[in-house]
Amino acid sequence: MSKRIVILGAGESGVGSAILAKKNGADVFVSDFGAIKAKYKERLNELGISWEEKKHTKDLILNADEIIKSPGIPEKVDIVKSAIEKGIPVISEIEYASRYTDAYKICITGSNGKTTTTKLIYHILKNAGLNVGLAGNVGQSWAQQVAEKNYDYYVIELSSFQLDGMYDFKADIAILMNITPDHLDRYEEGMTGYTNSKFRIIQNQTADDFFIFSADDEVTKNEVQKREIKAKKLPFSLKQNFDEGAYTKEETLIIKYKSNELTMSIHDLALKGQHNTYNSMAAGIAAQVLKIRKEDIRESLSNFQGVEHRLEPVLKVHGIEFINDSKATNVNSTWYALESMKNDVIWIAGGIDKGNDYSILENLVRNKVKAIICLGKDNEKIHKAFGAYVETMIDVQSASEAVKTAYYLAKKGDAVLLSPACASFDLFDNYEDRGDQFKQAVREL
Ligand code: ADP
Repeated sequence: MSKRIVILGAGESGVGSAILAKKNGADVFVSDFGAIKAKYKERLNELGISWEEKKHTKDLILNADEIIKSPGIPEKVDIVKSAIEKGIPVISEIEYASRYTDAYKICITGSNGKTTTTKLIYHILKNAGLNVGLAGNVGQSWAQQVAEKNYDYYVIELSSFQLDGMYDFKADIAILMNITPDHLDRYEEGMTGYTNSKFRIIQNQTADDFFIFSADDEVTKNEVQKREIKAKKLPFSLKQNFDEGAYTKEETLIIKYKSNELTMSIHDLALKGQHNTYNSMAAGIAAQVLKIRKEDIRESLSNFQGVEHRLEPVLKVHGIEFINDSKATNVNSTWYALESMKNDVIWIAGGIDKGNDYSILENLVRNKVKAIICLGKDNEKIHKAFGAYVETMIDVQSASEAVKTAYYLAKKGDAVLLSPACASFDLFDNYEDRGDQFKQAVREL
């Protein structure tokens, strides 16, 4: 009898898993407690895969040999709890797909910088002519690509929720950008649980594998000292040097691996700001490990186009620069955004606060921010945190009001920065919607 595989959640990863499971000859069933998008229903129907929406029918789910759960579904929901109690293995799309490919896997996790670093590595590998796919949290489902494509390399962005459903998976190159508080609502053990989840990126690695990590990130650094790590460790830092890894000396970025040393001016990096130097370092080390020619690495690090909604320059209007950093949904990413600003800033912030501690932004706000425009339903915490340091604080309820107010307050040479430090769901569909509305409003000035 064929194996029964039940997939919970019919988004990109769920439907991709269904496609791969079907190809493998499994008896596949897809169940989603919400509504399934029309394009996904069509794809499932075309392949003759049965599905249900707006419910989870226990009898059709708890007879599974294995369940593939979307990372968006918490483990505490009833149907997942029942499955675990019954002893049904619950895994993630990534775990499942990894069984069916021999491709070389470069995997990136961290609290911030995942998407940027993933896309940057993909850019370098592709420009160097490698047969490479992009997967994980970005773009097309990995399982679907494993079913339909034949790549030699994959660059895979992994969130902690995906890592939670991974057991036998092994990354050939694992990259951990940083660990700062985020998503703590989903981890019962708080920061410890979240940290353990991130460190699953190195599980099953052997001495033939590589672990690239930030030596400047306190949490990561402490864990690296405590844990027995088999992979070759390749750190990056803006504060110290290494025999192997990446660091800076004055204005020069140095990436060393074995006897290979690549140097380039940090001014030639396409991505600006300290956080992005970290991203470039991590990507550069991975590229060195993969023996990509130095000229190619340099060229790709300097011509990368950046990723939408991440410190994205929008327009200059009468000498006022508008920057869209809508993806900054936590305080740490906003810290790096403010840190990278060279001019006076009109800062647009706010939204849904996931228990933010704003104190780490105090100095930057004092030194760089002229006015704060609060773009959220409830802005009390922002007023409390910064009211003493900034003279002008104005509450608004839409992106267009925020842009118009900022434009009114700004002078030639100032920057208007949307870097909310908060989630967007109070006033927008998601961070993309918030960033798009901001950009639209700027273009309409
Ligand atoms: P993720 O995929 O981990 O959410 P992104 O690359 O999408 O990361 O960036 C999310 C936010 O964090 C953006 O505001 C971006 O400017 C900022 N950011 C990018 N890289 C880093 C980093 N290495 N450290 C801190 N913040 C970063």
